[in-house]
Amino acid sequence: MTHAPSRWAASGPERVWQQRVSEYLPEAARHASVLDAAEHARLAAFRTTADRDRYLVAHVAVRRLLGERLGVAPSAVRLTRQPCTECGGPHGRPAVAGATGVHFSLSHAGDLVAVAVAVVPVGVDVEEVPSPQAVAQTAPTALHPGSWPNWPRSPWPPARRRSRAAGRARRRT
Ligand SMILES: [Zn+2]
Repeated sequence: MTHAPSRWAASGPERVWQQRVSEYLPEAARHASVLDAAEHARLAAFRTTADRDRYLVAHVAVRRLLGERLGVAPSAVRLTRQPCTECGGPHGRPAVAGATGVHFSLSHAGDLVAVAVAVVPVGVDVEEVPSPQAVAQTAPTALHPGSWPNWPRSPWPPARRRSRAAGRARRRT
């Protein structure tokens, strides 16, 4: 229950976890009970299975990763929203309530979900990349299929990580 998902793309204080929704879904479904009432309500409101599955995978992963970082059960992680930088409303960046020095970011594209956990504000973006077959068909001379990374296990080409200016500035102090 307290074991965090194990597919890390980077190690150290800033860690990025990424996974295919289709691959992690059975695991996430077994641990759906870690979600809180608001997350269950959100889950039930999705119109498509794809959206629902992606949300389940992302939120179970976020809770397990943050639980590991905080040393608490995934269900004990309290998620909130920071005030919006535009209007001050309660819909800004997702954050961990009552915890300082623990920040996370969530991103998804298609069937891929990525979560970054860091000691400073962090951002993670994922983008779908063409399959090796698509690359071979469209650019046969540009990139040999064998040289294409063993996606998604290879960390960087699929998931592009950027630390936000705030994170870099704070890290220097
Ligand atoms: Zn706003």
